[in-house]
Amino acid sequence: MDSSPYSPCRLCPRQCGVDRLGGAPGVCGETADLRIASWGPHMGEEPCFTGTRGSGTIFFSGCSCHCFFCQNWQISNAHGLGQTVSAEAFHRLALGLIETGVHNLNFVTPDHFWPHIEALCARLRDDGVKIPLLFNSSGYQLPALVSRYAAQMDIFMPDFKFADPVLARAVMRDERYPEIALEALRLMVAEKGFLDPFDPTGMEPARRGVLVRHLVLPGHVDNTLRVLDLLREEFGRWLPLSLMSQYAPTPAAQPRPPFDRRLGPAEYQAACDRARELGFENLLVQPLAVTDDFLPDFERKKPFKGNP
Ligand code: SF4
Repeated sequence: MDSSPYSPCRLCPRQCGVDRLGGAPGVCGETADLRIASWGPHMGEEPCFTGTRGSGTIFFSGCSCHCFFCQNWQISNAHGLGQTVSAEAFHRLALGLIETGVHNLNFVTPDHFWPHIEALCARLRDDGVKIPLLFNSSGYQLPALVSRYAAQMDIFMPDFKFADPVLARAVMRDERYPEIALEALRLMVAEKGFLDPFDPTGMEPARRGVLVRHLVLPGHVDNTLRVLDLLREEFGRWLPLSLMSQYAPTPAAQPRPPFDRRLGPAEYQAACDRARELGFENLLVQPLAVTDDFLPDFERKKPFKGNP
């Protein structure tokens, strides 16, 4: 990476090339000013990360994906919520979060602010911080940067959203998502291996490795079945996989059926059945009736009702 990775910015597959240092936002919606929307111990991640004391989440403003149904839409859309934070304040915030006793530091949608995060992680290691650092992402990562991410991060938790390029195009305006996400995932697994330990009870939180998330979408179970087939073929049955049922329609999704409704029980059941048929051994599933406790409202001081 050159000395001004924000200018021109090519930090993600969008490859905007805009001058973020000069104040121009890219597709991610963000200039080179670090913006953070929320942070705190979070009990709503998978048990492997939440453990007993929570995951230390830091939610960044903006996103390069821009899926119209994003549950974090209040912060991920252009000009979304968030406050500008200096490098010093970022460091203090991270140390304060670690002091709460969280099991890991969880950087949510970190790629478009990677230069800030990379510098912070190096500083935290110099401080003697030992807890795992977790890269929590959309899967839409630039493969060329995965080794840089891996030099700082212990855990990768990427989504694998779409195997269907037409669906990817419709949702996030890039039909290349399946190939880009698959290549990034291959590199993440090559760097860190599978999640270790994988403890679905959360009694032994994960230290390193990769877990993949997939959100089943209403009306698009075929996409999910293709995702599962692809992941099984590429990575085998031991790939740690979180199959999520928690889709909830956002305002932008309301006029776009079938995204205007929750997932049906039969749809989620079909997804779980296929995952089990394929023999995934390290599989996490959710209840069919998910509560709203971990659907965020970033207008609130505490966005997640389920957090203490
Ligand atoms: S990080 Fe933002 S500005 Fe940079 S290439 Fe991606 S979308 Fe464009």
